[in-house]
Amino acid sequence: MNDLFEVKQTDIGCYYNYIKDFLPDKIIDIHTHVYLKDNLIQGDKADKRLASWPELVAEDNSFEDILETYELMFPGKTVIPLMFPFPIKIKNINVSNQYILDCIGEQKYYGLILADPEWDADVFERKIRMGDFKGAKVYLNFAPAYIPLNEICIFDFLPHHQLSILNKYGMIVMLHIPRDNRLKDPVNLAQIIEIERRYPAVKLIIAHVGRAYCKEDVGNAFEILAETKNVLFDFCANTNQWVFEQLIKAVGPKRILFGSDLPITRMRMKRICENGIYVNVISKGMYGDVSNDKNMREIEGDEADRLTFFLYEEILAFRLAAIETKLSNDDIKDVFYNNAMQLLKR
Ligand SMILES: [Zn+2]
Repeated sequence: MNDLFEVKQTDIGCYYNYIKDFLPDKIIDIHTHVYLKDNLIQGDKADKRLASWPELVAEDNSFEDILETYELMFPGKTVIPLMFPFPIKIKNINVSNQYILDCIGEQKYYGLILADPEWDADVFERKIRMGDFKGAKVYLNFAPAYIPLNEICIFDFLPHHQLSILNKYGMIVMLHIPRDNRLKDPVNLAQIIEIERRYPAVKLIIAHVGRAYCKEDVGNAFEILAETKNVLFDFCANTNQWVFEQLIKAVGPKRILFGSDLPITRMRMKRICENGIYVNVISKGMYGDVSNDKNMREIEGDEADRLTFFLYEEILAFRLAAIETKLSNDDIKDVFYNNAMQLLKR
């Protein structure tokens, strides 16, 4: 029995009935956070406005833990991660990034640097070239503090001088888009198109399908994005089958990548949408006091006992979307392995 997290009969049934044969034997996880709690700000110094339940899913995620998670969740499969730090509540960004380099080891695994938009072009280039980083992870909390949350735009934390360096080396950038309107936000869409046009060698990955967790987050985004040529999408921490179908129809299976967003997707839950807002349905008491969180709801009894991992829910939804859009086995292999390998081997 492992002590990382419990694997229940429900999970085992889910894996062997629906997931195992759907997945190829070799998988690349293009989106995973690896970090140690020693380098996180704890307790009072942490931002009280942030939700506390993510820490109850996992207080950190070491390299050993991610490998063990793959063994527990995907028995019989080989899973290779692209790793980067968790971008929130970090004490020292250099320590976080060095840990990624330590984990990459003998190039058996892959990593991204967590980039600070304050780094000028020379500093950014030196840091990203100091190890075998495949590119950068950027995050909106690094935007200047005076910008209100919903006014942050992509270039506030992914500045042009850093995009130029990423373009020079044809590197990856992992982008969690900002703003309450998510994927359909016209500023986001315009800036995604601008990145593709001005930095054609950059491998831009839009994380979580642009945070389109409900139908209402999509708008006309896929009509606009269908005209892009290079932009890629990962579908981690997203469980919306309908959104996945629209994505597949818009960009095809060559620009879609599997990611786990571990460790958060160790959470037991299922996600529903109500009036355009996503709600994570969880077992009562499992993740602390969530009474003030509009995105969380507690249930009890049989239904609660049947909840499985967020990561399984993500894959189950993608599987149904793949069936609905008639993806072939080769297409599935592309999404879970080949597309990512194309990016990483360059
Ligand atoms: Zn993530």
